Amino acid sequence: MSIKPRVLSGMRPTGALHLGHYHGALKNWVRLQADYECFYFVADWHALTTHYEEREVIEKNVYDMVIDWIAAGLDPEQCTIFIQSRLPEHAELFTLLAMGTPLGWLERVPTYKDQIDKLKDRDLATYGFLGYPLLQAADILIYKASYVPVGEDQASHVELTREVARRFNHLYGRGAAFEAGVAAALAKLPKDDARYFEKQRKAFGETGAAEALAKGEGLVRKAAAAIAGWADADTELLLGHLRGSGKTILVEPQALHTEVARLPGLDGTKMSKSLGNTVLMRDEPAAVEKKIRGMTTDPARVRRTDPGDPEKCPVWQFHLVYSDATTKDWVVAGCKSAGIGCLECKQPVIDAIVAEQRPWRERAETYLANPKHVHWIVEMGTERARVVAKQTMKDVRAAMGLDY
Ligand code: ATP
Ligand code: MG
Repeated sequence: MSIKPRVLSGMRPTGALHLGHYHGALKNWVRLQADYECFYFVADWHALTTHYEEREVIEKNVYDMVIDWIAAGLDPEQCTIFIQSRLPEHAELFTLLAMGTPLGWLERVPTYKDQIDKLKDRDLATYGFLGYPLLQAADILIYKASYVPVGEDQASHVELTREVARRFNHLYGRGAAFEAGVAAALAKLPKDDARYFEKQRKAFGETGAAEALAKGEGLVRKAAAAIAGWADADTELLLGHLRGSGKTILVEPQALHTEVARLPGLDGTKMSKSLGNTVLMRDEPAAVEKKIRGMTTDPARVRRTDPGDPEKCPVWQFHLVYSDATTKDWVVAGCKSAGIGCLECKQPVIDAIVAEQRPWRERAETYLANPKHVHWIVEMGTERARVVAKQTMKDVRAAMGLDY
């Protein structure tokens, strides 16, 4: 077993990956591999929440996306790559969590109304679309992930996941075995300490006072260090008892906030395949050149002789991602003084994208030529994930009294 904390993230196979996906997510995934035990999955069920009428799209993109991941630097030896739908345990946990999840928790997820408004051409008034943050919660909780890398728009999903876990532990972590375990642990404490602990627990339960929680935790820590025959399980039981949460069956994940770039598209709005404004990770150099040369610039710069303002130009956002200080200085000075034209300004960006893509293309070619190898990587990852998912479901079923 790995001692690194586990990270979980997924991507939807709804089309070829673009530079926004790379700079906004994938690049960070690659970085995280060294420090975390990373689980990355193809979220094909999530793709169906919006693309349920387009099975060909999903089918075509599952393995292509995995190839792009590996081409961009994911190392199948270091991280676990798998496909959501190959692990029906996700669906089982989703169903069980759904029973106790208030509808309001899902309706108030900010991305819900947002996306319905944005994706007007699709009918998203479906049960699946409303439920997808809960499916995401199941994806995370089933692997007891410690961290989930998120952009700001997804922070609310991690928050929902935490609430769901808390509620589950509260509802199902307090069976007879838990109560008996707590009583046995309390009996190991000196009488005065046990009384003091119960007093803090009551105070925290009634008022939520952080001080009472801290005092109770302090006492448990002291006991763990001082009492012979004290077990880690005793600590876990008393901490659950103290917080009123019961046994921790599902682990609350933390959002892992990392600096990622938000890349504009060719028209200056967010790069997104639904807007048709993307540069794909696999675009050929000629296509990259054509696309960037046609890219929107500062609208005030109509003629070559008009000075411009980089802050108003989406190409500048690309320079921020791709260019060194010297190039950036050259851009700012040249743009503001009309010393350089927009096409001149775009050239270093074109060169940098093409150079960035070169190793991706080379690696992708070997995998494209050998699909069996890609399938095998996913197979290995899926089986690794399955071991964890199965164990969690065993615990969950037992906690819910479903292990007849
Ligand atoms: P698209 O937005 O192209 O239609 P999608 O909706 O299937 O694709 P998302 O879920 O929006 O995919 O994105 C997957 C990941 O890539 C997310 O972490 C998201 O933040 C990131 N991402 C997508 N587009 C951009 C972008 N233009 N800039 C930065 N990050 C992006
Ligand atoms: Mg999107």
